[in-house]
Amino acid sequence: MVDISRGSALGTSGASELFQLLRDGAPRTRASLAASTGLARSTIAARVDELMGLGLVSPVADAASTGGRPPSQFALNPGARIVLAADLGASHATIAVTDLAGTVLAEHGEPIDIAQGPEAVLGWMVDAGLALIDGLGRDRHELAAIGVGVPGPVEHSTGRPVNPPIMPGWDRFDVPGWVQQHLEVPVLVDNDVNIMALGERALAWPQVEHLMFVKVATGIGSGIISGGLLQRGAQGIAGDIGHVRVARGSDVPCHCGNRGCLEALASGPAIARALREQGIEANSGNDVVELVKRGDIDAIQAVRQAGRDIGEVLTACVSLVNPSVVAIGGSMARAGEHLIAGVREVVYTRSMPLATEHLVIVASAAAENAAVLGASMLAIHHALSPEGIDALAAR
Ligand SMILES: [Zn+2]
Repeated sequence: MVDISRGSALGTSGASELFQLLRDGAPRTRASLAASTGLARSTIAARVDELMGLGLVSPVADAASTGGRPPSQFALNPGARIVLAADLGASHATIAVTDLAGTVLAEHGEPIDIAQGPEAVLGWMVDAGLALIDGLGRDRHELAAIGVGVPGPVEHSTGRPVNPPIMPGWDRFDVPGWVQQHLEVPVLVDNDVNIMALGERALAWPQVEHLMFVKVATGIGSGIISGGLLQRGAQGIAGDIGHVRVARGSDVPCHCGNRGCLEALASGPAIARALREQGIEANSGNDVVELVKRGDIDAIQAVRQAGRDIGEVLTACVSLVNPSVVAIGGSMARAGEHLIAGVREVVYTRSMPLATEHLVIVASAAAENAAVLGASMLAIHHALSPEGIDALAAR
């Protein structure tokens, strides 16, 4: 039984604590809420009324009558508030408005250069977000939170990027502080791969507690969900597997200054470079994907080998984290099964049988929507937390 007779140690209210039982969206009666909390029916009724007053909970169609008058049921009202979800990439950004269930209500994407610096890019984000909200005919005061993904490491507690290699001008920039000068709502910031892991889980694996999302694109990284929680580590770089050494590439230099990094062998640009060394014209990861789609044998073999290299590093990850799902996304996942076949080949051969007995290694289901969906989840998780509900009630 959850003790929600009082607010938590953080000083949250009884209503926001009760809401935690309702936020899964399943309809419940006052009686069932009383039974599962041990609170008096009158207390439950008052707290449900408070949540209905905020619009966060609304009546739903009652279950079939068993003869007498059926009890009234209540559930989360996903349309009560909206959140903004932004995926800021190196050269492209997408922003969406979603409801509290993560359903996209409006979306806009356009090329941006992250190297323009935080004020230019975040200014674009605020303007584009407000335009979407206005276009939906929604009120700006309905906005509950903003989730932002950026292509670099982020100190999650402060929302400040930390030494991001491809984001000049962003180091230690107070992203939430700047955005809140324009929109006075909580702003949550995380790196792109972490939010992709959240998005992938929300869309395709909501019941899975242990999941790794691996992004293979210009760089290589992963987001780790363990015990149902995103694992960021002490500095926010947990899952940063791109610079783990792979035996095959011991002499290949990496932009980080080391040699033999996974990213220097198996990223899109690395595969393209390997093909050029064979005299094949390939200038980018996209070129490699196009060659694979046309059935070019050399490109297929190169992508499969990249999959094996990634599998070598993932074998260690599987031993450490013991995930039940490894989802492979990022632009190189568009090369289809060849990349994943290489990953499977090594992971299933080299891992302990118990670790792989039920391990699923698949292409990302959320694909290019993973990041925006995950940014929405980041915002929603915060907005619907006990502290988030109290803040909504106070506004
Ligand atoms: Zn490196």
